[in-house]
Amino acid sequence: MLLKTITIALLLAGSGAEQPNVVFLTVDTLRADHLGVYGYRRDTSPVLDALAARSVVFEDAVCEEPQTGPSFISMLTSRFPRVVGTTRNGVPVPAEVPVVAESFREAGYETAAVVSNWNLKAALSGLERGFMLYDAGFMDKRIGVAESERGSDKVTDLIVRWLAERDRARPFFLWAHYMDPHGPYKMHKGFNPYGKPLRELSPVERTRARYDSEIAFTDFHMGRLLGALPKANTFIVLVADHGESLHEHNYVGHTRRVYQTTMRVPFFISGPGIKARRDASPVRGVDVAPTLLGLAGLPPLDRMMGLDVIRDAIPLERVRVVETYGGSIPRDAEGRRALATRPPSLQAVIVGPWKLILGGRKPQLFNLAEDPEERKNRARRYPAETQRLTALIDVWNAANPKVLAEAAPLSEEDVEALDALGYLR
Ligand SMILES: [Zn+2]
Repeated sequence: MLLKTITIALLLAGSGAEQPNVVFLTVDTLRADHLGVYGYRRDTSPVLDALAARSVVFEDAVCEEPQTGPSFISMLTSRFPRVVGTTRNGVPVPAEVPVVAESFREAGYETAAVVSNWNLKAALSGLERGFMLYDAGFMDKRIGVAESERGSDKVTDLIVRWLAERDRARPFFLWAHYMDPHGPYKMHKGFNPYGKPLRELSPVERTRARYDSEIAFTDFHMGRLLGALPKANTFIVLVADHGESLHEHNYVGHTRRVYQTTMRVPFFISGPGIKARRDASPVRGVDVAPTLLGLAGLPPLDRMMGLDVIRDAIPLERVRVVETYGGSIPRDAEGRRALATRPPSLQAVIVGPWKLILGGRKPQLFNLAEDPEERKNRARRYPAETQRLTALIDVWNAANPKVLAEAAPLSEEDVEALDALGYLR
């Protein structure tokens, strides 16, 4: 694997073609339909919309699991969370599973990550592997506890500084992770796409207005980052780890539901040779790693489960099974060990326009083309479809048996920070 990577890197070097920079630009908890590029009517994202206007925009991308750790691990390894055992936050990617940053580093890239969710800290995610710089520092204190998320302004400041100081003789792989849209949501002064003061809004609207303000604030600071990137020979892959339910289906948050509000994510790619277009192909979290490597001409990792969305043909009838394992992390190791053995709390399969959710009180079947908000359960009306989709989930479960991986021990600081983010119980 190492040799193969080096060979390809040498071939590229020998061909005189300069290797491209690759930027993995991620926003935590950013649902697709709150961005202008995905049809949102409020002006939350002028910067991302402009970036999307020169990108291939995937209109139908879903995450594997609506949880930060599992989702990012699936994106950066191209394996389903259940097959590596990383179905919950706080379970680091096992050492034997390769991650894309290692490939970039082996190929001579300068690699750096600035991440801002406590669950992505090296000890909890294991995702620092391959990064020469992995900045997950949360130095500030706010409301009397260790800050569990870092603001977009600071993320950009750090990266802009890194870009100025980096080794210009080498290409770079950069993971920029923004966190503001994650709860608790706050209204940022000067960033109010709702256009009305909070006091004039209903409680539900207030939640959405604050969430949108977080997006607009992040979008602005991502603009500063984009302005600092090299103009030539740089690919940008924008994606989110999961969405957020904002009172839809009587729920606020992301870990406990698998409706499209939490599963559908923005995903678009710009860079040399990429023509701006919309693409309705069904794509998913595990496609990210093959795509990142493909953009740089690097070989695939061992046992990848996704497709390269730029180079591979994506079948329209692709079967996408996604799942969640519920919300909180128990405080004690005993509880976490017991939890690790549990089956998913919810599973869903998406095929064509159909989506079936299992694990609730009864099966829920939706036609996403006619009912994108998943309001009308068609399970009783279409029993054959319900049966067909149930069988697809069974097949997928049999093909991808769940394994156990060791949860990281939590430090006192971890407990404090995860509690502030609402992850502990
Ligand atoms: Zn997240």
